[in-house]
Amino acid sequence: MNILILGSGQLARMMALAGYPLGLSVAAVDVNARNVVDPITKIVSEKLLIQALKDADVISVEFEHIPQDLLEQVNATGKLMPSMESIMAGADRVKEKKLLSGLNIANCPYKIITDVNQLDAAVTELGEQLIIKASRDGYDGYGQWRLSGAAQLADIKQQLSELDLQKVPLVVEKMLNFERELSLVGVRSVSGQIAYYPLAENLHHQGQLHVSVAPAPHVNEALNQQAQDIFNQLVEALGYVGVLAVEFFQMGDQLLVNEIAPRVHNSGHWSMQGADTCQFENHLRAISDLPLGATKVLTPTAMINIIGCDDFSMDVLNIQGCHLHLYGKTVRAKRKMGHFNLCADSYAALGHTLQDLAQYLAQEHFPLLKKEANRLLNV
Ligand code: ATP
Ligand code: MG
Repeated sequence: MNILILGSGQLARMMALAGYPLGLSVAAVDVNARNVVDPITKIVSEKLLIQALKDADVISVEFEHIPQDLLEQVNATGKLMPSMESIMAGADRVKEKKLLSGLNIANCPYKIITDVNQLDAAVTELGEQLIIKASRDGYDGYGQWRLSGAAQLADIKQQLSELDLQKVPLVVEKMLNFERELSLVGVRSVSGQIAYYPLAENLHHQGQLHVSVAPAPHVNEALNQQAQDIFNQLVEALGYVGVLAVEFFQMGDQLLVNEIAPRVHNSGHWSMQGADTCQFENHLRAISDLPLGATKVLTPTAMINIIGCDDFSMDVLNIQGCHLHLYGKTVRAKRKMGHFNLCADSYAALGHTLQDLAQYLAQEHFPLLKKEANRLLNV
């Protein structure tokens, strides 16, 4: 089975690694250079993109921001999974909001604006604390502006005035005071088989995911069910095939959808050690029309992103239950370089393992680690 992934970053790499034991061959496409690369070695293939599209049995994506012309070219092969519509719903916040509202799925109160002067009406309607998001090409908190009070309005308008909002509108959201962030990673196969991982709890810093804990502590059956119902509505409406991640804000007993990601997701990386079958393997199984693997949790697991640094001692591997995944990238500020998966028999034991990990890592790059360790000790 030949699988081609649009995008050649760490997600394509982890899919390729997961595909090996099943005899699934995974190649990747650098969507900017438009060439075919090995997702593990990054060596550029002599094969032309057009030939790779022909040779592939299935084509999928590792991220949603695929140039439109390429997405259409790939869609025309009839091999794209998930569908182009699904990918675009994740890539364009206006389409995403329409999808959610159309299905009556609770999400964050918002207004779409196509002119900076419409911000005044947004403030009147939604309040003075807002998150303003570019409707396209945003990720890891990029393409976002925060308004914390009316005094900043003029300054933000000035910054936004440089954008072409007719072409790329802004989604203005009310800044929510949620209790926590959760995500559901689930998967639906070509034959319609569905499997869910448990909800993960996600901790962000400056708009970027730093830590996920799965299963999220203190999740009752009703909350789980709510998340799975929303997932089901989405995959049914989209005729979705593959892994889909749904990010939520928890407000009391209610889940509001923050956004969806039509692909394997950073908050599902814990499943590489913490679940019977990881999300990468299950994505490949789903799009190859193979039976899905069990998503049973093996142990409570914490995933810690390694962001903007790579200078820590490999002695970290002395920690029992500590697994390191490096992506082979050169360091840049805010760049995801790899992640740790920490597994332990209980949340308290996980807290101790996080404390041990914190000894090896610079607080500056892992600002949430100590606090999360203490929190887990008291779950
Ligand atoms: P990623 O690619 O990492 O998922 P993103 O750039 O696509 O991020 P969002 O998920 O929309 O952007 O926002 C990033 C983070 O900013 C959220 O996980 C949350 O912590 C915070 N955030 C976003 N929207 C809101 C909101 N309306 N109220 C409060 N916090 C928010
Ligand atoms: Mg997000």
